[in-house]
Formats: sequence, structure tokens, C-alpha cells
Amino acid sequence: MAEKWLVGVDLGGTTTKLAFINMYGEIQHKWEIPTDNSNDGKNITINIAKTIDQKLEELGQEKTKLAGIGMGAPGPVNYATGVIYNAVNLGWPDNYPLKDLLEVETNLPALIDNDANCAAIGEMWKGAGNGAKDLVCVTLGTGVGGGVIANGNIVQGVSGAAGEIGHITSIPEGGAPCNCGKTGCLETIASATGIVRIAMEELKKEDAAGELKDIFAANDLVSAKNVFDAARNGDALALLVLEKVSLHLGLALANIANTLNPEKIVLGGGVSKAGNVLLDQVKINFDKFAFPRVKKSTTLALATLGNDAGVIGAAWLIKNKSSIQ
Ligand code: ZN
Repeated sequence: MAEKWLVGVDLGGTTTKLAFINMYGEIQHKWEIPTDNSNDGKNITINIAKTIDQKLEELGQEKTKLAGIGMGAPGPVNYATGVIYNAVNLGWPDNYPLKDLLEVETNLPALIDNDANCAAIGEMWKGAGNGAKDLVCVTLGTGVGGGVIANGNIVQGVSGAAGEIGHITSIPEGGAPCNCGKTGCLETIASATGIVRIAMEELKKEDAAGELKDIFAANDLVSAKNVFDAARNGDALALLVLEKVSLHLGLALANIANTLNPEKIVLGGGVSKAGNVLLDQVKINFDKFAFPRVKKSTTLALATLGNDAGVIGAAWLIKNKSSIQ
């Protein structure tokens, strides 16, 4: 068994990431294919099966080398039945039997979970979690995702929607509209999109000046990365944006920690690449709002696996949560 490989898949709206991973969680081969949303998303599992066979052939390996396939999917999942409730970007109808179709197409035992949950498991197994069994992972990207691991298990909730950290309400009244239909969600503030939105609000003020304002004047837009780079250089307007974002993120994380007292809260996703300029500011607010005993025992850390967290977590799922061994 030790020499067998697991297949980890991270299914995104535009790209599907795949990897062959050994039983120790080490990536042996990784590659990507475009996600084909046409035909009501019917090609997605077929294309995954095809690319796995092609890769095996390329590597001169037999199908028997593979022990099973785990996949993270972008939507709420019924973990027990392997049904994805809805996935707006993939063309699938509601309650799509993803696990069964994946098993039929690949002829491998399969397990699926939500993509943010898979990223959290990946960080627990091989990343910043470093084996911590009580861990919260927050993915700060175009949106804000979350995964909660308690005693080594992902918390699924009664309908697969546990860990929706991005939709914690940060602004109870008058907040920006969120993709979920509510307003004032954390996602409207701490995602890349939210950071840019807040920066634009500040940049449109009459007295706006400085490095970030110059970038805006030259390009008519700014990115989240511009905000962090300018903040690192001490730009007052960028620092103001950073303080707003960190206040809401630090407050939400402190409330999560006050509820769960995890060993670690790991910040991942594209926005977390800002590094310490973000982490340090979030920590200041986290410390302000965390219960004293929580403050002492829960640590904040940056994710270390980058884009590999999802495929590694998906591989862990099929290794540990199925009867393949
Ligand atoms: Zn929302």
C-alpha cells in the first residue's frame, strides 16, 4: 500500500488542479486542465478520468498504482452521500451526485468535500497547521472561504454549510452587498474584491493623496497587492484601508476563536501573500477581541502550501476517510 498513489483534485470554476500524491502526503506529479462547464457540466468528471489515464500512460504507470481519488468542489457538499447541493459556476443542476459520477468515470473509490474544507485539511496535514487537530483555515481570495477542523475532523454542519466564515456579518446595517444575497458579510471587506472596494472609497475622497493615489491616477484602478505594497511603504491611505480590513478580520477571527479555541488559525489564499504586513495588523485586532485564555493559546499563522493545499487535503480525505486501506 505504501507505494500506491492517491489522486487529489481541486475543482475550480475555470481550472481543475490534479496531483498524484503518495501516502505520506508528498506530491509526486501535479498538473492542471481547464474546467469545461459546457453541456451542464457533464464533461467535468469525464475529463478528469481522461486526464488521469493520460498522465498514468505518460508516466508508464498502471491504473493499479492509484488507491483512490479525493476532490474538493466549489460549493456546499453532503459529505456522507457525496452530493454537491449547488455549484453556480459549473453548470451542474442542484443536488448533483458528484461522488458517484466520479467513481463511475474513474473506476476508483472517491470522496468529495467543499474546496475550502480540503484546503484546511491540507494545511492541517502538511502545511502551517503542522498536525494541529483543532484548526481553522481562512482562505482570503476573490471571496473568503473557511474550513473548521475539530479534533481532526472537518465540521460539516447539518447541511454542509459550516465554516462559511466569509459570510459572518461584519456590518449589520448599510454594508456592501455580498454574492450570497446578504449585505455586510466579511467577504465584502476581507476578500481581494473587498479590499479594492474599500480602497476605491478612500481614493475617491477629495483629500486623497500619496503612493496609492498616484497608482490610481495612472491606471484608474488599484489591486489588493497595490494596497499592501503601499502600506508596507508607509502610505497613509493604504494603511487606513489595511486597518479597516484588519479590524473586521481580527474581530471575526477572535469571535471564532472564542467559540472554538483552536490551536491555530491559518490564513491562506491570494490575499494572504501580503504576509506580515497583513498578519501583524490582524493580530493586533485579534488580541484586542479574544478572550484572555484564547489569546494565549490560539495562534495566527500564514498558510504554507499555497495552491497545493486543496489537492493535498483531497488526497488526505480518500486516504483517511474511506475503506481503501
Ligand atoms: Zn455573504
